[in-house]
Amino acid sequence: MLTSDVENFPGYPTGIGGPEMMIHMREQAERFGLEVQDKNVEKVDFSERPFRVWVEGEEHRSEAVIICTGAEAIWLGVEGEDAQKGRGISTCATCDGAFFREQEVIVVGGGDSAMEEATFLTRFASKVTIVHRHDVFKASKVMYERAVNHPKIEIKTHRKIKSWLSNDEGLSGAVLEDPRDGSEEEISCTGAFIAIGHKPMTGFLQGELEMDGSGYILHSEHTMTSVPGVFAAGDVVDTRYRQAITAAGMGCEAAMDAEKWLEDQH
Ligand code: NDP
Repeated sequence: MLTSDVENFPGYPTGIGGPEMMIHMREQAERFGLEVQDKNVEKVDFSERPFRVWVEGEEHRSEAVIICTGAEAIWLGVEGEDAQKGRGISTCATCDGAFFREQEVIVVGGGDSAMEEATFLTRFASKVTIVHRHDVFKASKVMYERAVNHPKIEIKTHRKIKSWLSNDEGLSGAVLEDPRDGSEEEISCTGAFIAIGHKPMTGFLQGELEMDGSGYILHSEHTMTSVPGVFAAGDVVDTRYRQAITAAGMGCEAAMDAEKWLEDQH
């Protein structure tokens, strides 16, 4: 939902916007009778069947559940960040980039997200500085080169954000630290975007399913979790591929596994 340009989903030769692709997927599924409720799940009880799922106070019961809650952005947690969260500092350029028209912004990270955010922000910002903690980039070659060759983008390597600086008007800059020798420098910016990865959205599942040390759900057999009848797909289990197409493919596998498992119960 929050990605700007999806360049690597098969069937879109000129790319597509993330939200637009999600609308297509939803409409396609609804054509086959899917009912969608845009609500938050608060807790679950998978100790016996039918399973119980509480959705904004309402209890739902089900013989099978597929969890596809994905992963959310990680923050840096440095001094000055909390005061600027959702103001000068964001984790979503697609959502907030337009607020920084003709301003100087920072993007933190060295992966595809950082490259994508930085490239997207050049539509609005007068200058974009990518700050990365060393000089090896996880980003794919094509996305790194698009960013590095952009005239509005500067890349600062071997730099960590030590703290954020603010004034009465909001974010005003950052103190950067070189982890090799501890030297510091100040950089001015009125916007910053953190793109350093994600954590799985599994807080509401604590104790119900087996997970790894980072909270990603573990599969026990194909897409089934440690609880028979509960399946999981997409970024909530995937620490390796994390692409829209791999999540969609795994979603298909989970639907087929759930259908077969339900049939086998009768
Ligand atoms: P990645 O894990 O690939 O990259 C995270 C980056 O953040 C790394 O450079 C990492 O540095 C840095 N980092 C992590 N923690 C910190 C920290 N505390 N302080 C400073 N820097 C930090 O995550 P992404 O979100 O970029 O990408 C996830 C997956 O999604 C990838 O597979 C990517 O290919 C995919 N993706 C694809 C896109 C597309 O094709 N349109 C767009 C966006 C993502 P270090 O290198 O030191 O670990």
